[in-house]
Amino acid sequence: MKKYLSLSIIFSFIIILVLPASSSNKILSPEGFFGFKAGADFHLINYEQAVKYWRELEKTSSGIRLFEYGKSSEGRPMIFAAVSSEENIASLDRLKEISKKLSLVRGLTEEEAKKLAQEGKAIVWVDGGLHATEVAPAQHIIQLTYDLLTDDSPKIKKIRDEVVAMLALPNPDGMDMVAEWYEKNLGTPYETSPLPWLYQKYIGHDNNRDSYMLSVPETQNLNQLLHHEWYPHIFYNHHQESPFPTLIFVPPDSEPTNPNLHPLLLRWQNLIGSAIALGLEAEGKQGVISRYLFDTWYPGYVTQVCDFHNIISTFSETFLFNYATPQFFRVEEFPEEFKDFTTSLFFTNPWKGGWWHLRDAVEYCLTASKSVLDLAAKHREDLLYAKYAMGKETMERYEKEPPYGWIMPQEQRDAGVAVDLINKLIALDLEVYEAETPFKADGIGYPAGTYILPTSQPFGRLLKTLFEIQVYPDLRVYPMLWQSIVEPIKLKIPPLQTYDVLGWTLPLQMGVKAVMMNSLLDIKMKRIWKASLKQDSISGHGNYAYAVPYEANNCAIAVNRFLKAGAEVLWARQSFSSEGKTFLPGTFIVPLSGFPEQKMEELARELFIDVKKINRPSVRTSKLKQPRVGLYQPWMANMDEGWTRLMLENHEFPLTSLHNAEIRAGLLNDRYDVVILPSQSPDSIINGHPKGTMPPEYVGGISEAGVMNLKKFVENGGTLAALGSACDLAIEQFQLPIKNILRSLKPEDFFASGLLLNAIFDPDRTIAYGLPHEAAVFFAESPTFQILPASDGKDAPLAVARYSAKEIVLSGWMLGESYLQNKAAVVEVPFGKGRVILLGFRVQHRGQTKVTFKLLFNAIFSSAL
Ligand SMILES: [Zn+2]
Repeated sequence: MKKYLSLSIIFSFIIILVLPASSSNKILSPEGFFGFKAGADFHLINYEQAVKYWRELEKTSSGIRLFEYGKSSEGRPMIFAAVSSEENIASLDRLKEISKKLSLVRGLTEEEAKKLAQEGKAIVWVDGGLHATEVAPAQHIIQLTYDLLTDDSPKIKKIRDEVVAMLALPNPDGMDMVAEWYEKNLGTPYETSPLPWLYQKYIGHDNNRDSYMLSVPETQNLNQLLHHEWYPHIFYNHHQESPFPTLIFVPPDSEPTNPNLHPLLLRWQNLIGSAIALGLEAEGKQGVISRYLFDTWYPGYVTQVCDFHNIISTFSETFLFNYATPQFFRVEEFPEEFKDFTTSLFFTNPWKGGWWHLRDAVEYCLTASKSVLDLAAKHREDLLYAKYAMGKETMERYEKEPPYGWIMPQEQRDAGVAVDLINKLIALDLEVYEAETPFKADGIGYPAGTYILPTSQPFGRLLKTLFEIQVYPDLRVYPMLWQSIVEPIKLKIPPLQTYDVLGWTLPLQMGVKAVMMNSLLDIKMKRIWKASLKQDSISGHGNYAYAVPYEANNCAIAVNRFLKAGAEVLWARQSFSSEGKTFLPGTFIVPLSGFPEQKMEELARELFIDVKKINRPSVRTSKLKQPRVGLYQPWMANMDEGWTRLMLENHEFPLTSLHNAEIRAGLLNDRYDVVILPSQSPDSIINGHPKGTMPPEYVGGISEAGVMNLKKFVENGGTLAALGSACDLAIEQFQLPIKNILRSLKPEDFFASGLLLNAIFDPDRTIAYGLPHEAAVFFAESPTFQILPASDGKDAPLAVARYSAKEIVLSGWMLGESYLQNKAAVVEVPFGKGRVILLGFRVQHRGQTKVTFKLLFNAIFSSAL
């Protein structure tokens, strides 16, 4: 007996030794680590703490490995956790390689692809907190990590065996900001006050919509990780804005559907959405809704960019972000249509109100994520093969049907921007080629070195959607297709909205020449990994100055560097000729003595700008000074402000953020030459947050006193540049002889929300220097101006740009174009000794509208002449 006992003790000792490291005995739960549950009332775990917990898990389990994939805008390490069985974690390199091969298609037969699909594991990305104020998804990731490592149910065991989960918190800065803000206000009357600044340093909520433009480190890092290293099969992006009183939105999405999304992908997406809904329903979780509000038209969301990489993406919107403060909801507060709990096929089980805690939202997210992982585990092989099948089908399709691709000539108006576009396409893992011989396409000859972008490539649908003209399906025309009722209603008004913008054609927005190919090219070409457009160097033999023609946006960087170095910079106010070449108004002239030639040569190469040495020209010039720029930054987290700041910083303009208190205090001429008001409603600029809704230092706007101070600033010679909605503030408060015609249009007659229109610029106007005569501009309910007669003795306003008098829509769709035809889009209004510049359309929309950046540069440069 004794012997037996001692053997048994030895035996159990051995068992303890060989127990898998994923045993829940050793692994600390979030509760054990933090002292409260993830998602507990009044507690938010911040990014730093979450990573500490992950590191603790990594120490105690071989089922998790952490990876850093770059630094955030504020320098935090961006880390994700790979979670799977110990065996899979040990073979990550092989699993990634399989996924890469299936994803890139080339060199794989169907048989080989099938074998790889059998061998590989499903790689599934799940994230939380991209939109940092939507706090539940990030908290759920912490709990999900623990559950996946420790839950020994057959379902989770199978997930560990078949799936590698990539668990991520993709907005580290925002997660820390929000937790800090909440903690500071906890227990005060401002416990659930909104964050007064953007939760991504520059672009806030647009950190999702930046996914093809890659303007900030977070989107760049994520893009690199997904589309060059890991090639996941499913991408699940959590949000938390399900419209009250629904508790979670899951796919199928609303209409319209982007026509370039692969049909197989859309079917998988619907299946995944249904799996989430089923998982929630099985647990009795109410309020699940689909085909509601959210559509897939705009391709810039992170999920869409994944879709176009044949990664089946899904997103959900769980309910309510009130930080960690619970809230009680009564049916009486429900919108009318939800009060009687009517059900539908996509809303089977309405919620009837009650308490909603952060932990409730976390539980919804957990069930949703586990349902996706479960589906991936069950369909692993099909899922892996689908990735290959979609890429292969796309390649074959565009061998047979147009568009066959795009040709980008070496000769570009703004070479720096063209280089930027090519490098972005390469970053998006698109294949870019260079012609090795001269060739002809559609009857036009091109030299060797021309860039070729074939649509026949695994992710060719992304290229197509970014480059083609958007033809928006006016959903009124196809009621049978989207209403799914017996007798669809043919609506006359109003036009049907999309969740985001309608038109974005990238070469148009950026002013880059790209020619669509209507026939298949059969020429010698080589793939390139970095744009190498012909870089400029100094030409000409003049003895007086360098002339820098103002065609490139990068000229602004050059000018800012000249000014910083103390060089003299003259701005040509007329066109002039030198050595047989004509220079347009706006050309920059830098005397040779002011800037070393070698440095100028380097600058020309780095910035892709054209520099010519000229003799002393006979031309009227103005001397440029370093302008003092004030950029208004409200306490109402304005993305337009962030995008403007990012664009100006990228072009090396020194600038100061101007807050309400400084504008209220006045004497602005002492400190600024130009004040920029980003797009924001006049009421919110003047009044800001109402008293009692925010900590006192963030309450109120610029106030009436601030308006008076801005007026004095302009009267004394300052420049006020108003963007978008802020134009109305200047028009109304300064009583300018301008009418915003949009104010009098009815929604049934006029609808234009996010599309590209044709505008004509007057190149003799300082504000239009450097712009082409005609260009695409981004219109989103943008103020449009009728110039009224100026009162006696005052200078009349001058139109800098007008919408075309003929065909106006370049990409997208609008109703009522005749209202805009020939109307002023940008106006310069003399006012006292200064002027107001009204920039109606979005000159810097999401960093994409590069062709119109110069309007703001010019408003700045001309403020200090
Ligand atoms: Zn969101």
